[in-house]
Parts: sequence; C-alpha cells; structure tokens
Amino acid sequence: MGDMQSRTERGTADLEIESLRQQIKDLSSKLADAETLIKDFQQKERATAVRAAGDPAVETAPLSELDTTLRRLVQRIAMILQAEKVLMMFFDPETGELGAIQPAYGVDEDILGMVRLRATHGVSGEVFREGKPVIFSDAVSDPRTKHESFGLLQVRNGLCVPLIIERRDEENRVIDRTSIGVLHVFNKRYGEDFNDEDVRLLERMAKSAASVISNLRLYQAIVEEKEELLQTLESLYAGLMLVSVDGTVSQMNASARALFKVGPEVMGSDYRDIIADASIRELIEETKEGKEGLQVEVPMVGERGERTFQVQAAQVKNEDGRLIGTVTIFNDVTELKSIERMKSAFVATVSHELRTPLTAIKGFVSTLLHEQGFPEEERLEFYAIIDHECDRLTRLISDLLNISRIEAGESLKPDYTNVDIRQLAKKVLMIQKQSTARHELLLDVPDKFPEIIGDEDNLDQVLTNLVSNAIKYSLDGGKVTVHLKVDSDFILIGVEDEGIGIPKEHLSKVFERFHRVHTEDNRKVYGTGLGLFLVKHLVEKLHLGTLWAESEVGVGSTFWVRLPIKLDIEKAEALNK
Ligand code: ADP
Repeated sequence: MGDMQSRTERGTADLEIESLRQQIKDLSSKLADAETLIKDFQQKERATAVRAAGDPAVETAPLSELDTTLRRLVQRIAMILQAEKVLMMFFDPETGELGAIQPAYGVDEDILGMVRLRATHGVSGEVFREGKPVIFSDAVSDPRTKHESFGLLQVRNGLCVPLIIERRDEENRVIDRTSIGVLHVFNKRYGEDFNDEDVRLLERMAKSAASVISNLRLYQAIVEEKEELLQTLESLYAGLMLVSVDGTVSQMNASARALFKVGPEVMGSDYRDIIADASIRELIEETKEGKEGLQVEVPMVGERGERTFQVQAAQVKNEDGRLIGTVTIFNDVTELKSIERMKSAFVATVSHELRTPLTAIKGFVSTLLHEQGFPEEERLEFYAIIDHECDRLTRLISDLLNISRIEAGESLKPDYTNVDIRQLAKKVLMIQKQSTARHELLLDVPDKFPEIIGDEDNLDQVLTNLVSNAIKYSLDGGKVTVHLKVDSDFILIGVEDEGIGIPKEHLSKVFERFHRVHTEDNRKVYGTGLGLFLVKHLVEKLHLGTLWAESEVGVGSTFWVRLPIKLDIEKAEALNK
C-alpha cells in the first residue's frame, strides 16, 4: 500500500522526468539550429550590405537592410514602368487569401491593410494560380476584376505578374517553382496602357522582389520560432542550462538562474564562474567528452530552502551531427526523496508497532498456558492486558486498511446518523483511561450540547486518535482535557494536553501521512505517522469539517476539530463518491 504507492509515484515521476528531458533535448537542438541559421543569415546579409555600401565598417541590421532593398525595388519598378501605383500581395496558406503587404508605392498605408481577396478570385487569383502575367486596360468594365479592391485603389488599368521563387540545382536548372504572391503595377502614366515590353521588364523585377520577400519572411519566421523556443525554455519548471563547446553559457532559463542566483546577463560568461559544485562541473565535462546518460544528485539551497536536485546532462548536436554544446537539466527531487525516506521509516515503525503487541500477547498467553497456579486476580490482569493489546493491533490494522482505501481513492462508506458527541467523548475517555495511570482525563462540556449528524464509528476513531496521541505525547503524565463547545452552526472539539508540544514548523505537517516529529523527547514513542492523516481525512472529507493544532513546545498541545451540526449529507456523499 503506502509502499506500493510511493513506488508507482516514483515510477511515474521518473517517466515524466525522462519525457521532459527528451523534450528539452529536442527543443535545445532546434534552438541551436535556429541560432546557426540566423547567424548564417546575418553573415550573408552583412556581406551584401557591406558590398553595397562599399564601406567595410558599415554594419547594417539584415532585417532593415532587406526592407530597404525592397522599398528601393518598388520605387524603381514604379519609375521604370511609369506606374502611378505598385502593390504586392502575399499568399497566406492558412487563410487561402492573397493580402497586400508593405512596401507599396502610391497607395495609402491604411488602405493597404484592407486589400485582400481569396486566391480563387479576381485577376490576382488567376495570376497567382496560373503563374502567368495579365494586362487589363479597363478595370471598371473588365469582368475579371470583380472581387478586387480596385475601386478602393482607384485603378484604371494595370499589369499583374506572379511572384515566383525558383530553386535551381548545381547546373542552374530550375528544379522547383513556387508562387508566393502577385505583383501589381497600376495606372500607366500619360494615359497609356501597359504593353508586352512592360511585362518582360516587370517579370524580371518580380524575380528579385520575390527572392527578397521570401528571405525576409524566412528570416522573420526563424526569429519568431527562436523567440517561441526561448519562451518555452524560459518558462520550464525544470532548470536548464546550455553550455557552448567553449564553455560559455548560451542559454540559462529562469529556474536555473534563480537556482544559481544570477541574472540574464549571465549569457556569454564561463559556466565555471557560475557553477562551483565539482560534481556538476564533472558531469558537464564528461558529457562533452561523450559519456551518455550521466546524472548526479546535488543538495542546493534554492528559493525554497535546502532542496535536492537531480542534475542530468546531454550533448547537443546540430543537424549535421556536429557537437555544439551540452544541455544540463536541474530537477527538484526533494519531495520524491523525502517520500522515499518516509517509506523506509514507515516500514520500520509498522513492523515495530505490529511486533510489540504480538510479543506481549504471546508472552502472556504462554505464561497462562504453561504456568499454572496464578491467583485469579493476576490471571484477570493478564487477560486484560491481552485484550488491550489485541485492541491495539486491531486499531493499527484498521488504520492501515483505511489508509490504503483512501490512497486507492475508495470511499470509507460512511453511515450517517445522529451522534451524541458528549456520550461518545465520555466513552472514549473511559476506554483510554485504562491505558494510563499517570494522566487525568477530563471532559469540559456545557449543560446543553447538541447532537450532530455524522458517522459514529469514524468520529469515535477521530476522538480516540486525538486522545491517545495526547496521552502518548505527554510522557510525564498530566491532564488531558476534551473540550466541547458550540460555535453557531458548528461544534468545536478540542483535545488539550500538557505534553511535549509540537515545534511551529511541524504544526501543519503532522497531518501529512508518515510525518512524525523526531526529538529527543519522543524518540521512544512509537507510532506510524498515519493517525492524524486519517483523522484529517475523516474530519474534512467525511464530515466537511476542519482540523488544526495549537501548540507550544514543553507546554502542551490542543488539537481542534470543527464540525457542522447539520452535515449536508448529499454534499459529503458526493465528495466521497
Ligand atoms: P503517530 O502518533 O503514529 O506518530 P500521528 O499521525 O498520530 O502518528 O501523529 C503524527 C506526529 O504528530 C507524531 O509522530 C507526533 O510527532 C506529533 N503529535 C501528534 N499528536 C501530538 C501531541 N498531542 N503532542 C505532541 N506531538 C503530537
């Protein structure tokens, strides 16, 4: 049960980490590809820019350079073809539409945004689909211009050619032609019409335009993709660091930066200046040298105090298989580790808890069997002890069974009736009194106390658990008081002791399964750490109540339970389906 649970938890967590690791590896190598592409691109563009400017010192950003080139081209087209307007449309495969793009000539920017039509319509659609130029001399009467925004653009006549990208092989033969849009010139000056000579000219210029546009789009797409990848890496819960072959940090996401307490300016610095831990450094170096599947577990002080991180590294290669760096992932495995620790402690304590009553039972039964002649009084005392130890065993086993039911998500099948809590508390105190001579057990209850709706057996278990804890954790004896109070539509049950108390940092944790406070004082008190977990479940889930503890170390503790007087049974049952 508890054992199995942790094992499966561990298993799924491992799987998750493994798939996360794979995802991160993929993302990192994509990112690296995008970065190489962008670098290549920038180099090429810079080279052209420098050549064009004739001045090796000039460094223009490639994006704006491409943009300027395109603007000049559009102006030149207008001049050479003596057109009043030049307009380019780009095909968007997602919408199936052709839409006007920047830059244009002689067209208002506001209007530009409105010019779009389906690629199945109009002259533009025809030119785009057929890949052949079209001249039209009377935009108003030409039936092909239906659906076009020519009215808006005040077009009289025009010439329209496809924007085509050609891919060529080594011998310069065209191996692929893709239409990416259309190029329009409108309104030939001096009242003329466009002619075949214009077609030839425009087709030539359309080729340059198409290649610039496609480069521009490609560049933008790469930049966007890179941005997206960076965002994804940045927001990963796991820490991630990408170290280039030369040892400089090329990426470090927010989680990793928080872990090493560095800011975004860390990119570009040597990773050894950031990571002092020898085992992580070794991991990175060995991975770089080709060892695979390495991982180490390292304690680190993060935002949430001391935590254990599982650190894994892998090589990152580009498309041609060239090593470009290593990616290191930091996973917080503190919870997993502590569950594992608790599991071992649990197995030890449960074994002890089972053995102790069994040893007592066996001892007394053997004595009674083999040694006759005990006086009646002593015999009865032995039987009482056996009876008591059997109860203890039964309680433990039923706790274990209930926990395993809760963990399997099964309902504890409550049986709701009217419960007299005052009577119940009296009974529990009476039974618990038998196990201790050193404690004074008291009930503090007003004269009139209401019955509530609840499951009697479960509420018995809640009270028994709290009272027996109060006795168990006040080693020197003292008073144990059960307070019953009415608080508008609720009742309050308080179990107060004068025992060892609970340190502040454990106050809310004692309700977690397996959680036990380990101090010099309670070292000899055995338990499983399951009782309060169960109590919490019974109170909150089965009775829609609340449970909390107040305590001062060395003074004592009070556990409070707040329960509705009139439990909404339907709601409680729905919650426990
Ligand atoms: P167990 O008693 O079997 O260890 P519980 O779930 O009942 O498990 O309690 C969890 C832990 O909470 C205990 O191990 C103990 O450290 C602490 N605790 C519970 N009740 C008290 C109390 N009345 N006084 C001091 N410590 C307590």
